[in-house]
Amino acid sequence: MGMYDMIEYTCSNCAKETYAQTKLASCFLTVYKIGDFFSEENINMNLIMKDECDKCQSKNCIMIKDGKIIQTVPLEKATHQEESFGNVTKLNDEKDSR
Ligand SMILES: [Zn+2]
Repeated sequence: MGMYDMIEYTCSNCAKETYAQTKLASCFLTVYKIGDFFSEENINMNLIMKDECDKCQSKNCIMIKDGKIIQTVPLEKATHQEESFGNVTKLNDEKDSR
């Protein structure tokens, strides 16, 4: 497998400091935290990360606004989901029901 970046966050279920791998950013083994700029592109999404919390196995969703990691948000607010190879699936939201 290639290199990957990490996102450090606090699990919204059990409050453990944990992390998830991501391939959405530059893939230079960077560790991103809440408040960091994730990308120079204007990414706006609520992303379900592919790794579960290592303590409680909950899925977590992070809000990315203008390329900056804002906070974890409830899963029901997710707009995208990261898959194994860094591709992202768009979840159903109001924009799809044209
Ligand atoms: Zn947890």
